[in-house]
Amino acid sequence: MKKFLDENFLLQTKTSQQLYHNFAKDMPIIDYHCHLPPKQIADDINFENLTQIWLFGDHYKWRAMRTNGVNESYCTGNKPDFEKFMKWAQTVPYTFRNPLYHWTHLELQRYFDVHELLNADSAENIYDECTARLKTTEYSVRNLLRKMNVKVVCTTDDPTDSLEHHQKIKEDGFEIKILPAFRPDKAMNVDSANDFNAYLTKLEAVSNTNIASYSNYLDALKNRHDFFASMDCSVSDHGLEQVYAEDYSQAEIENAFDKIRSGKELSVEEILKFKSAMLQIFAVWDHEKDWVQQYHLSALRNNNSRMMKSLGADTGWDSIGDFSQGKALAKFLDRLDSNNQLAKTILYNLNPADNDLMATMIGNFQDGSVAGKIQYGSGWWFLDQKDGMLKQLNALSNMGLLSRFAGMLTDSRSFLSYPRHEYFRRILCNLFGEEIENGELPNDVKWTGKLIQDICYNNAAHYFNWKEVKQPLSTATTL
Ligand SMILES: [Zn+2]
Repeated sequence: MKKFLDENFLLQTKTSQQLYHNFAKDMPIIDYHCHLPPKQIADDINFENLTQIWLFGDHYKWRAMRTNGVNESYCTGNKPDFEKFMKWAQTVPYTFRNPLYHWTHLELQRYFDVHELLNADSAENIYDECTARLKTTEYSVRNLLRKMNVKVVCTTDDPTDSLEHHQKIKEDGFEIKILPAFRPDKAMNVDSANDFNAYLTKLEAVSNTNIASYSNYLDALKNRHDFFASMDCSVSDHGLEQVYAEDYSQAEIENAFDKIRSGKELSVEEILKFKSAMLQIFAVWDHEKDWVQQYHLSALRNNNSRMMKSLGADTGWDSIGDFSQGKALAKFLDRLDSNNQLAKTILYNLNPADNDLMATMIGNFQDGSVAGKIQYGSGWWFLDQKDGMLKQLNALSNMGLLSRFAGMLTDSRSFLSYPRHEYFRRILCNLFGEEIENGELPNDVKWTGKLIQDICYNNAAHYFNWKEVKQPLSTATTL
Protein backbone atom coordinates (compact mmCIF):
# COMPACT_ATOMS: atom_id res chain seq x y z
CA MET A 1 0.00 0.00 0.00
CA LYS A 2 1.24 3.48 -0.82
CA LYS A 3 1.74 5.99 1.94
CA PHE A 4 -0.75 8.86 2.16
CA LEU A 5 0.48 12.11 0.66
CA ASP A 6 4.16 11.20 0.47
CA GLU A 7 6.67 12.64 -1.99
CA ASN A 8 5.14 10.60 -4.79
CA PHE A 9 1.56 11.60 -4.07
CA LEU A 10 -0.55 11.26 -7.26
CA LEU A 11 2.48 10.04 -9.23
CA GLN A 12 1.63 6.49 -10.18
CA THR A 13 4.59 5.52 -12.39
CA LYS A 14 8.36 5.89 -12.23
CA THR A 15 8.28 8.18 -15.26
CA SER A 16 5.59 10.37 -13.66
CA GLN A 17 7.80 10.67 -10.58
CA GLN A 18 10.83 11.52 -12.68
CA LEU A 19 8.89 14.18 -14.60
CA TYR A 20 7.60 15.77 -11.43
CA HIS A 21 10.77 15.72 -9.34
CA ASN A 22 13.24 16.57 -12.10
CA PHE A 23 11.21 19.05 -14.13
CA ALA A 24 8.02 20.40 -12.54
CA LYS A 25 8.67 20.63 -8.82
CA ASP A 26 11.14 23.50 -8.76
CA MET A 27 9.52 25.68 -11.40
CA PRO A 28 8.47 29.07 -10.02
CA ILE A 29 4.82 30.08 -9.89
CA ILE A 30 2.87 32.66 -11.86
CA ASP A 31 -0.52 33.15 -10.26
CA TYR A 32 -2.25 35.13 -12.97
CA HIS A 33 -5.68 35.15 -11.38
CA CYS A 34 -6.45 35.21 -7.67
CA HIS A 35 -8.29 37.21 -5.04
CA LEU A 36 -5.52 37.95 -2.54
CA PRO A 37 -6.10 41.29 -0.81
CA PRO A 38 -3.37 43.72 -1.97
CA LYS A 39 -3.61 45.67 1.31
CA GLN A 40 -2.33 42.68 3.28
CA ILE A 41 0.66 42.42 0.94
CA ALA A 42 1.28 46.18 1.10
CA ASP A 43 1.28 46.02 4.90
CA ASP A 44 3.17 42.70 4.84
CA ILE A 45 1.02 41.51 7.69
CA ASN A 46 1.40 38.48 9.89
CA PHE A 47 -1.82 36.63 10.61
CA GLU A 48 -2.51 36.21 14.30
CA ASN A 49 -3.39 32.55 14.17
CA LEU A 50 -4.21 29.62 11.92
CA THR A 51 -7.92 30.38 11.91
CA GLN A 52 -7.40 33.87 10.57
CA ILE A 53 -5.16 32.86 7.69
CA TRP A 54 -6.99 29.65 6.89
CA LEU A 55 -10.68 30.01 7.62
CA PHE A 56 -11.44 33.70 7.30
CA GLY A 57 -12.83 34.28 3.83
CA ASP A 58 -12.58 30.63 2.75
CA HIS A 59 -16.06 29.76 1.58
CA TYR A 60 -14.93 26.32 0.42
CA LYS A 61 -14.26 25.38 4.04
CA TRP A 62 -17.44 27.07 5.30
CA ARG A 63 -19.50 25.05 2.85
CA ALA A 64 -17.97 21.80 4.07
CA MET A 65 -18.51 22.80 7.71
CA ARG A 66 -22.15 23.74 7.12
CA THR A 67 -22.69 20.48 5.26
CA ASN A 68 -21.18 18.68 8.22
CA GLY A 69 -23.75 20.27 10.52
CA VAL A 70 -21.62 23.07 11.94
CA ASN A 71 -23.51 26.16 13.04
CA GLU A 72 -22.94 29.35 11.03
CA SER A 73 -21.52 31.11 14.11
CA TYR A 74 -18.37 28.95 13.71
CA CYS A 75 -18.05 29.73 9.99
CA THR A 76 -18.73 33.42 9.53
CA GLY A 77 -19.96 34.30 13.02
CA ASN A 78 -18.30 35.64 16.11
CA LYS A 79 -17.18 32.48 17.93
CA PRO A 80 -13.60 32.64 19.22
CA ASP A 81 -10.95 31.77 16.63
CA PHE A 82 -9.83 28.58 18.37
CA GLU A 83 -13.38 27.25 18.58
CA LYS A 84 -13.84 27.92 14.88
CA PHE A 85 -10.65 26.01 14.19
CA MET A 86 -11.83 23.07 16.30
CA LYS A 87 -15.03 22.86 14.27
CA TRP A 88 -12.97 22.82 11.08
CA ALA A 89 -10.61 20.17 12.49
CA GLN A 90 -13.61 18.02 13.47
CA THR A 91 -14.95 18.41 9.94
CA VAL A 92 -11.71 17.48 8.14
CA PRO A 93 -12.06 13.66 8.55
CA TYR A 94 -15.48 13.99 6.94
CA THR A 95 -13.96 15.65 3.86
CA PHE A 96 -12.48 12.38 2.49
CA ARG A 97 -12.49 12.54 -1.33
CA ASN A 98 -13.26 16.25 -1.36
CA PRO A 99 -10.21 18.22 -2.59
CA LEU A 100 -10.23 20.05 0.74
CA TYR A 101 -8.77 16.94 2.36
CA HIS A 102 -5.76 16.99 0.06
CA TRP A 103 -5.34 20.76 0.08
CA THR A 104 -5.54 20.92 3.87
CA HIS A 105 -2.76 18.40 4.39
CA LEU A 106 -0.61 19.69 1.55
CA GLU A 107 -0.85 23.16 3.09
CA LEU A 108 0.07 21.89 6.56
CA GLN A 109 3.07 20.04 5.10
CA ARG A 110 4.41 22.68 2.76
CA TYR A 111 4.03 25.78 4.91
CA PHE A 112 4.35 24.38 8.43
CA ASP A 113 6.15 21.05 8.00
CA VAL A 114 3.26 19.43 9.87
CA HIS A 115 2.82 15.85 8.67
CA GLU A 116 0.09 14.73 11.07
CA LEU A 117 -3.49 14.34 9.94
CA LEU A 118 -5.78 17.10 11.12
CA ASN A 119 -8.68 15.92 13.27
CA ALA A 120 -10.22 16.64 16.66
CA ASP A 121 -7.34 14.94 18.51
CA SER A 122 -4.48 16.62 16.69
CA ALA A 123 -6.19 20.01 16.40
CA GLU A 124 -4.88 21.75 19.48
CA ASN A 125 -1.21 20.88 18.88
CA ILE A 126 -1.42 21.79 15.22
CA TYR A 127 -3.15 25.07 16.03
CA ASP A 128 -0.53 26.02 18.60
CA GLU A 129 2.41 25.03 16.45
CA CYS A 130 1.19 26.79 13.31
CA THR A 131 0.04 29.86 15.22
CA ALA A 132 3.45 30.21 16.87
CA ARG A 133 5.09 30.08 13.44
CA LEU A 134 2.64 32.54 11.93
CA LYS A 135 3.78 35.16 14.41
CA THR A 136 7.39 35.02 13.17
CA THR A 137 8.84 37.16 10.37
CA GLU A 138 9.28 34.07 8.23
CA TYR A 139 5.49 33.86 8.01
CA SER A 140 4.68 37.41 6.96
CA VAL A 141 2.55 37.30 3.82
CA ARG A 142 5.40 38.45 1.58
CA ASN A 143 7.60 35.71 2.99
CA LEU A 144 4.85 33.16 2.42
CA LEU A 145 4.82 34.14 -1.26
CA ARG A 146 8.63 33.89 -1.37
CA LYS A 147 8.51 30.48 0.32
CA MET A 148 6.33 29.18 -2.52
CA ASN A 149 8.62 30.64 -5.19
CA VAL A 150 5.92 32.90 -6.60
CA LYS A 151 7.11 35.37 -9.24
CA VAL A 152 3.91 37.12 -10.28
CA VAL A 153 0.49 37.58 -8.68
CA CYS A 154 -2.48 39.22 -10.38
CA THR A 155 -5.11 40.39 -7.94
CA THR A 156 -8.72 41.18 -8.91
CA ASP A 157 -9.67 44.84 -8.81
CA ASP A 158 -12.67 46.96 -9.60
CA PRO A 159 -12.14 49.96 -11.93
CA THR A 160 -12.98 52.23 -8.98
CA ASP A 161 -10.15 50.80 -6.84
CA SER A 162 -7.45 53.36 -6.10
CA LEU A 163 -4.66 50.75 -6.46
CA GLU A 164 -2.90 52.56 -3.62
CA HIS A 165 -1.74 49.24 -2.18
CA HIS A 166 -0.24 48.13 -5.48
CA GLN A 167 1.54 51.48 -5.58
CA LYS A 168 2.93 50.96 -2.08
CA ILE A 169 4.11 47.44 -2.92
CA LYS A 170 5.87 48.75 -6.01
CA GLU A 171 7.49 51.61 -4.13
CA ASP A 172 8.76 49.15 -1.52
CA GLY A 173 10.65 47.38 -4.30
CA PHE A 174 9.05 44.03 -3.45
CA GLU A 175 10.67 41.63 -5.91
CA ILE A 176 7.49 39.62 -6.53
CA LYS A 177 5.30 41.39 -9.06
CA ILE A 178 1.90 42.10 -7.52
CA LEU A 179 -0.16 43.39 -10.42
CA PRO A 180 -3.74 44.57 -10.59
CA ALA A 181 -6.32 43.03 -12.93
CA PHE A 182 -9.19 45.11 -14.32
CA ARG A 183 -12.50 43.48 -13.42
CA PRO A 184 -15.37 45.72 -14.50
CA ASP A 185 -18.31 43.43 -13.61
CA LYS A 186 -20.09 46.18 -11.71
CA ALA A 187 -19.58 48.64 -14.56
CA MET A 188 -21.80 46.57 -16.84
CA ASN A 189 -24.27 45.37 -14.26
CA VAL A 190 -27.43 47.30 -15.04
CA ASP A 191 -29.83 44.82 -13.41
CA SER A 192 -30.66 47.37 -10.71
CA ALA A 193 -30.89 51.13 -11.24
CA ASN A 194 -30.08 51.70 -7.59
CA ASP A 195 -26.91 49.62 -7.58
CA PHE A 196 -25.74 50.99 -10.92
CA ASN A 197 -26.17 54.60 -9.87
CA ALA A 198 -24.43 53.94 -6.57
CA TYR A 199 -21.54 52.51 -8.58
CA LEU A 200 -21.49 55.61 -10.78
CA THR A 201 -21.19 57.79 -7.69
CA LYS A 202 -18.02 55.88 -6.78
CA LEU A 203 -16.70 56.12 -10.31
CA GLU A 204 -17.38 59.88 -10.40
CA ALA A 205 -15.43 60.32 -7.17
CA VAL A 206 -12.40 58.27 -8.21
CA SER A 207 -12.20 59.75 -11.70
CA ASN A 208 -13.14 63.25 -10.55
CA THR A 209 -15.76 63.70 -13.28
CA ASN A 210 -19.45 64.28 -13.59
CA ILE A 211 -21.16 61.39 -15.36
CA ALA A 212 -24.30 62.69 -17.02
CA SER A 213 -24.21 60.84 -20.33
CA TYR A 214 -23.11 57.55 -21.80
CA SER A 215 -20.16 59.28 -23.39
CA ASN A 216 -19.10 60.70 -19.98
CA TYR A 217 -19.44 57.20 -18.63
CA LEU A 218 -17.15 55.69 -21.24
CA ASP A 219 -14.62 58.47 -20.74
CA ALA A 220 -14.53 57.83 -17.00
CA LEU A 221 -14.07 54.09 -17.47
CA LYS A 222 -11.44 54.54 -20.18
CA ASN A 223 -9.63 56.83 -17.82
CA ARG A 224 -9.56 54.03 -15.23
CA HIS A 225 -8.44 51.47 -17.85
CA ASP A 226 -5.55 53.82 -18.75
CA PHE A 227 -4.76 54.31 -15.08
CA PHE A 228 -4.67 50.55 -14.47
CA ALA A 229 -2.29 50.23 -17.43
CA SER A 230 -0.05 52.89 -15.90
CA MET A 231 0.07 50.67 -12.80
CA ASP A 232 1.42 47.76 -14.91
CA CYS A 233 -1.94 46.06 -15.31
CA SER A 234 -2.11 43.97 -18.48
CA VAL A 235 -4.94 41.61 -17.61
CA SER A 236 -8.70 42.01 -17.45
CA ASP A 237 -11.19 39.59 -16.02
CA HIS A 238 -14.95 39.17 -16.23
CA GLY A 239 -17.18 37.02 -14.05
CA LEU A 240 -20.31 36.35 -16.11
CA GLU A 241 -23.12 33.84 -16.36
CA GLN A 242 -22.55 33.93 -20.10
CA VAL A 243 -21.01 36.16 -22.73
CA TYR A 244 -23.45 38.76 -24.06
CA ALA A 245 -23.39 39.39 -27.79
CA GLU A 246 -26.70 40.99 -28.73
CA ASP A 247 -26.86 43.35 -31.67
CA TYR A 248 -27.28 46.96 -30.59
CA SER A 249 -27.06 50.50 -31.93
CA GLN A 250 -25.26 53.41 -30.35
CA ALA A 251 -28.59 55.21 -29.91
CA GLU A 252 -30.12 52.25 -28.06
CA ILE A 253 -27.24 52.17 -25.58
CA GLU A 254 -27.29 55.93 -25.06
CA ASN A 255 -31.03 55.80 -24.39
CA ALA A 256 -30.66 52.90 -22.00
CA PHE A 257 -27.96 54.77 -20.14
CA ASP A 258 -30.13 57.92 -19.84
CA LYS A 259 -33.03 55.80 -18.62
CA ILE A 260 -31.13 54.01 -15.87
CA ARG A 261 -29.26 57.19 -14.93
CA SER A 262 -32.61 58.80 -14.23
CA GLY A 263 -33.41 55.96 -11.84
CA LYS A 264 -35.70 53.89 -14.07
CA GLU A 265 -35.21 50.13 -14.41
CA LEU A 266 -34.21 48.75 -17.82
CA SER A 267 -36.16 46.06 -19.66
CA VAL A 268 -34.60 42.63 -20.09
CA GLU A 269 -33.81 43.47 -23.70
CA GLU A 270 -32.16 46.78 -22.78
CA ILE A 271 -30.09 45.07 -20.10
CA LEU A 272 -28.80 42.48 -22.55
CA LYS A 273 -27.94 45.09 -25.15
CA PHE A 274 -26.19 47.30 -22.60
CA LYS A 275 -24.11 44.41 -21.28
CA SER A 276 -23.25 43.38 -24.83
CA ALA A 277 -22.08 46.90 -25.65
CA MET A 278 -19.93 47.19 -22.53
CA LEU A 279 -18.34 43.80 -23.03
CA GLN A 280 -17.48 44.74 -26.59
CA ILE A 281 -15.96 48.06 -25.56
CA PHE A 282 -13.84 46.55 -22.80
CA ALA A 283 -12.58 43.93 -25.25
CA VAL A 284 -11.57 46.61 -27.75
CA TRP A 285 -9.66 48.53 -25.08
CA ASP A 286 -7.93 45.31 -24.00
CA HIS A 287 -6.88 44.70 -27.59
CA GLU A 288 -5.59 48.25 -28.01
CA LYS A 289 -3.28 47.74 -25.03
CA ASP A 290 -2.33 44.14 -25.87
CA TRP A 291 -3.80 42.91 -22.59
CA VAL A 292 -5.00 39.40 -21.89
CA GLN A 293 -8.77 39.21 -21.30
CA GLN A 294 -10.27 36.48 -19.17
CA TYR A 295 -13.87 35.31 -19.02
CA HIS A 296 -15.07 33.22 -16.08
CA LEU A 297 -18.37 31.80 -17.26
CA SER A 298 -21.30 29.86 -15.85
CA ALA A 299 -21.39 30.48 -12.11
CA LEU A 300 -24.92 30.61 -10.71
CA ARG A 301 -24.31 32.93 -7.78
CA ASN A 302 -26.03 33.87 -4.51
CA ASN A 303 -28.69 31.20 -4.65
CA ASN A 304 -29.64 31.41 -0.99
CA SER A 305 -31.46 34.71 -0.59
CA ARG A 306 -31.70 34.40 3.20
CA MET A 307 -27.93 34.02 3.53
CA MET A 308 -27.23 36.58 0.78
CA LYS A 309 -29.16 39.10 2.90
CA SER A 310 -27.15 38.41 6.03
CA LEU A 311 -23.66 37.67 4.65
CA GLY A 312 -23.47 39.16 1.13
CA ALA A 313 -21.77 37.68 -1.92
CA ASP A 314 -18.84 35.23 -2.05
CA THR A 315 -19.75 33.45 1.15
CA GLY A 316 -20.45 29.99 -0.26
CA TRP A 317 -23.95 29.93 -1.75
CA ASP A 318 -23.04 29.52 -5.40
CA SER A 319 -23.20 26.61 -7.80
CA ILE A 320 -22.54 25.54 -11.34
CA GLY A 321 -25.08 27.11 -13.70
CA ASP A 322 -26.54 25.69 -16.88
CA PHE A 323 -26.35 28.73 -19.11
CA SER A 324 -26.06 28.37 -22.85
CA GLN A 325 -22.52 29.33 -23.85
CA GLY A 326 -21.64 28.43 -27.43
CA LYS A 327 -23.54 30.66 -29.80
CA ALA A 328 -23.05 34.03 -28.07
CA LEU A 329 -19.42 33.26 -27.33
CA ALA A 330 -18.73 32.48 -30.98
CA LYS A 331 -20.56 35.63 -32.08
CA PHE A 332 -18.67 37.79 -29.57
CA LEU A 333 -15.24 36.44 -30.50
CA ASP A 334 -16.04 36.54 -34.20
CA ARG A 335 -17.16 40.17 -34.07
CA LEU A 336 -13.85 41.13 -32.48
CA ASP A 337 -11.78 38.94 -34.79
CA SER A 338 -13.53 40.31 -37.89
CA ASN A 339 -12.51 43.82 -36.90
CA ASN A 340 -8.99 42.76 -35.96
CA GLN A 341 -9.80 43.65 -32.34
CA LEU A 342 -9.49 40.27 -30.64
CA ALA A 343 -7.06 40.40 -27.73
CA LYS A 344 -5.39 37.35 -26.21
CA THR A 345 -8.25 35.60 -24.46
CA ILE A 346 -8.70 32.94 -21.76
CA LEU A 347 -12.06 31.19 -21.42
CA TYR A 348 -12.96 29.41 -18.18
CA ASN A 349 -16.12 27.36 -17.86
CA LEU A 350 -17.63 26.26 -14.59
CA ASN A 351 -20.00 23.71 -16.09
CA PRO A 352 -18.02 20.61 -17.11
CA ALA A 353 -20.66 19.89 -19.75
CA ASP A 354 -19.08 22.82 -21.63
CA ASN A 355 -15.52 21.43 -21.56
CA ASP A 356 -15.50 20.20 -25.14
CA LEU A 357 -17.36 23.28 -26.33
CA MET A 358 -14.63 25.53 -24.84
CA ALA A 359 -11.79 23.34 -26.05
CA THR A 360 -13.10 23.56 -29.62
CA MET A 361 -14.18 27.22 -29.42
CA ILE A 362 -10.62 28.40 -28.80
CA GLY A 363 -9.45 26.75 -32.03
CA ASN A 364 -11.81 28.92 -34.10
CA PHE A 365 -9.87 32.08 -33.35
CA GLN A 366 -6.20 31.10 -33.19
CA ASP A 367 -4.61 33.42 -35.74
CA GLY A 368 -0.96 32.37 -35.72
CA SER A 369 0.17 35.64 -34.11
CA VAL A 370 1.15 34.04 -30.81
CA ALA A 371 1.15 30.42 -29.60
CA GLY A 372 -2.06 29.65 -27.77
CA LYS A 373 -3.55 33.09 -28.37
CA ILE A 374 -6.95 31.88 -27.26
CA GLN A 375 -6.66 29.70 -24.16
CA TYR A 376 -8.97 27.24 -22.51
CA GLY A 377 -8.46 28.10 -18.83
CA SER A 378 -7.67 25.59 -16.11
CA GLY A 379 -10.30 23.80 -14.03
CA TRP A 380 -11.90 26.50 -11.93
CA TRP A 381 -13.70 26.66 -8.55
CA PHE A 382 -15.88 23.53 -8.36
CA LEU A 383 -13.70 21.96 -11.07
CA ASP A 384 -10.43 22.76 -9.31
CA GLN A 385 -9.80 19.14 -8.24
CA LYS A 386 -8.28 15.98 -9.69
CA ASP A 387 -11.28 14.92 -11.75
CA GLY A 388 -12.01 18.46 -12.99
CA MET A 389 -8.37 19.13 -13.87
CA LEU A 390 -8.03 15.83 -15.70
CA LYS A 391 -11.16 16.49 -17.73
CA GLN A 392 -9.93 19.96 -18.68
CA LEU A 393 -6.47 18.62 -19.58
CA ASN A 394 -7.98 15.82 -21.64
CA ALA A 395 -10.41 18.09 -23.51
CA LEU A 396 -7.58 20.49 -24.28
CA SER A 397 -5.29 17.63 -25.38
CA ASN A 398 -7.93 16.02 -27.54
CA MET A 399 -9.07 19.16 -29.29
CA GLY A 400 -6.21 21.64 -28.93
CA LEU A 401 -2.55 21.80 -27.90
CA LEU A 402 -1.92 21.03 -24.25
CA SER A 403 1.72 21.97 -24.82
CA ARG A 404 0.73 25.63 -25.28
CA PHE A 405 -1.45 25.82 -22.18
CA ALA A 406 -0.73 28.77 -19.87
CA GLY A 407 -1.41 26.53 -16.89
CA MET A 408 -2.65 26.75 -13.36
CA LEU A 409 -3.69 29.61 -11.10
CA THR A 410 -5.04 29.57 -7.55
CA ASP A 411 -8.15 31.78 -7.88
CA SER A 412 -7.85 31.87 -4.10
CA ARG A 413 -8.36 34.35 -1.30
CA SER A 414 -5.80 32.63 0.93
CA PHE A 415 -2.02 32.97 1.15
CA LEU A 416 -1.88 29.26 1.96
CA SER A 417 -3.32 28.10 -1.37
CA TYR A 418 -0.13 27.84 -3.41
CA PRO A 419 0.16 24.03 -3.07
CA ARG A 420 -2.73 23.94 -5.56
CA HIS A 421 -0.04 24.52 -8.19
CA GLU A 422 1.81 21.48 -6.87
CA TYR A 423 -1.42 19.48 -6.96
CA PHE A 424 -1.94 20.46 -10.60
CA ARG A 425 1.68 19.71 -11.52
CA ARG A 426 1.51 16.23 -10.02
CA ILE A 427 -1.66 15.46 -11.97
CA LEU A 428 -0.07 16.80 -15.16
CA CYS A 429 3.14 14.80 -14.69
CA ASN A 430 1.20 11.66 -13.91
CA LEU A 431 -0.81 12.03 -17.11
CA PHE A 432 2.31 12.28 -19.28
CA GLY A 433 4.23 9.66 -17.27
CA GLU A 434 1.53 7.02 -17.53
CA GLU A 435 1.18 7.51 -21.29
CA ILE A 436 4.95 7.24 -21.79
CA GLU A 437 4.98 3.99 -19.83
CA ASN A 438 1.97 2.70 -21.79
CA GLY A 439 3.76 3.37 -25.05
CA GLU A 440 1.23 6.03 -26.03
CA LEU A 441 3.91 8.72 -26.06
CA PRO A 442 7.59 8.30 -27.03
CA ASN A 443 9.98 7.66 -24.19
CA ASP A 444 11.59 11.09 -24.38
CA VAL A 445 11.57 12.30 -20.82
CA LYS A 446 13.73 15.29 -21.63
CA TRP A 447 11.34 16.69 -24.23
CA THR A 448 8.26 15.84 -22.18
CA GLY A 449 9.91 17.49 -19.17
CA LYS A 450 10.46 20.66 -21.19
CA LEU A 451 6.80 20.72 -22.24
CA ILE A 452 5.79 20.27 -18.61
CA GLN A 453 8.02 23.16 -17.56
CA ASP A 454 6.37 25.28 -20.22
CA ILE A 455 2.89 24.42 -18.94
CA CYS A 456 3.93 24.97 -15.30
CA TYR A 457 5.54 28.35 -15.86
CA ASN A 458 7.19 29.34 -19.15
CA ASN A 459 4.04 29.52 -21.26
CA ALA A 460 2.40 31.93 -18.83
CA ALA A 461 5.49 34.16 -18.63
CA HIS A 462 5.58 34.39 -22.43
CA TYR A 463 1.84 34.62 -22.94
CA PHE A 464 1.45 37.52 -20.53
CA ASN A 465 4.76 38.88 -21.75
CA TRP A 466 6.21 39.61 -18.33
CA LYS A 467 9.75 40.13 -19.55
CA GLU A 468 11.52 40.14 -16.18
CA VAL A 469 10.31 36.65 -15.30
CA LYS A 470 10.66 34.97 -18.69
CA GLN A 471 12.78 31.87 -19.17
CA PRO A 472 13.32 30.35 -22.63
CA LEU A 473 10.53 28.19 -24.00
CA SER A 474 11.24 24.67 -25.17
CA THR A 475 12.40 24.26 -28.74
CA ALA A 476 11.54 21.03 -30.47
CA THR A 477 15.02 20.14 -31.70
CA THR A 478 15.20 16.75 -30.03
CA LEU A 479 12.37 15.09 -31.93
ZN1 LIG B 1 -11.66 34.42 -9.49
